[in-house]
Amino acid sequence: MRLETAPSRPIFGCVGRRIRFFGLLVLAAAAWFPIAGEAGWVANVTGDRWFLPLAGLGGAVFVVGLLLGALDPALRWMSRGRCARCGAATERGQVYCLDHLKATVHEARDHTRETYHRGR
Ligand SMILES: [Zn+2]
Repeated sequence: MRLETAPSRPIFGCVGRRIRFFGLLVLAAAAWFPIAGEAGWVANVTGDRWFLPLAGLGGAVFVVGLLLGALDPALRWMSRGRCARCGAATERGQVYCLDHLKATVHEARDHTRETYHRGR
């Protein structure tokens, strides 16, 4: 079991999912008002007055939730806290974990040696 580091944990994604759900709830409530107005559960005027603000609010909240959900991959991309090969946590700014950093250096050296010999 690997310990998760703070930047790689999908905090924003979890919050974003909750916010999107809340936005959908508000949208559903907004959609309920004209129906309720038609059905006579609330006064038609009340239904009309609440529909647009609630629909706008629900839509805005949903978009905020979408943006928060997109923030996680963006943050991960910026911090690059994962090994490009095995996905293990790395030091900030490192593309590979220690093992793969060494392996990559060895491979690069072997490769240059090969091409050097082949060239002669
Ligand atoms: Zn690795």
